Amino acid sequence: MSDSRPDYQRIIEQIHQELLLHKNYGEVADYIPELANIDSEQFGVFLHTVDGNNYHTGDWQTPFSIQSIVKVLLLSLAYTKLGGRLWQRVGVEPSGTPFNAMGTLEHDDGIPRNPFSNAGALVVCDVLMDTYEDPRAALLALLRSASGDDTIDFDPVVAASEKAEGHRNLALVNFLKSLGNIHNDVEAVLDLYLDSCSVAVNCEQLARSFMFFANHGQTLDGGVQLLNRSQAKRLNAIMLTCGFYDEAGDFAYKVGLPGKSGVGGGIVAVLPNHFSLAVWSPRLNEKGNSYRGLRFLEQFTTVTGESIF
Ligand code: GLN
Repeated sequence: MSDSRPDYQRIIEQIHQELLLHKNYGEVADYIPELANIDSEQFGVFLHTVDGNNYHTGDWQTPFSIQSIVKVLLLSLAYTKLGGRLWQRVGVEPSGTPFNAMGTLEHDDGIPRNPFSNAGALVVCDVLMDTYEDPRAALLALLRSASGDDTIDFDPVVAASEKAEGHRNLALVNFLKSLGNIHNDVEAVLDLYLDSCSVAVNCEQLARSFMFFANHGQTLDGGVQLLNRSQAKRLNAIMLTCGFYDEAGDFAYKVGLPGKSGVGGGIVAVLPNHFSLAVWSPRLNEKGNSYRGLRFLEQFTTVTGESIF
């Protein structure tokens, strides 16, 4: 990334403006009541490059709910403790099913296909309860160290809102327990999972939090090695193949970056050695991924020609 670096600020502003002129599609995630209350037309972008530059536009400073994006960080915590033994509890294959699917679990003896489905993340939370004295503190410590921002925190209102309506996830954690792949109390595991999903971030905090995946496991500021090179490579591979549920193939095809989405409308994507890029727009397509976020990323990698392919 030297002289030939694209004019990122102009490019992100142009794509952002162009998308604002087009009709927005999709629905906000109103199955979490608190998420139904947000202005669905907000749209922010933050690009953080490994040479330390930042580019942003739109509502990049507005906090939103991290939701399933946190599953990557939960996985990082579990993987650094257990290494390859973690894969006895959860797989690394794309599921081809929606994020909250239960269907394949019985057939798979309670081993979720990957850690980014809700079932997979619940198992990861169960692992964290066995490996960390205080998994919530460990998650916040990781987020804060990765982003260099000590203000990142849980949002108790969002967490309570999802807990009040969390029938599907309650069913999932009970089903996993019945199949022998949850060791702790089901309520406690679900509580950790839903608290984790509630973390509030803005586009800048999200892009900065994921910079270590673009930088071989190391934070930019301070050079803390959060994952080793091999671990970072592998988690990026899981993001590429499983980060968007049954739209993961489409994302790889159209965008060509490892990434992860959440029903809060956020998406973060990384290009190793180059950048971490966060976009946020709350309206979700039928797969639960941000409609405008996907459009933005598709155009960004097309215009810049920068993707892993
Ligand atoms: N907390 C949400 C849920 O469990 C996360 C889902 C998502 O972001 N895809 O339903």
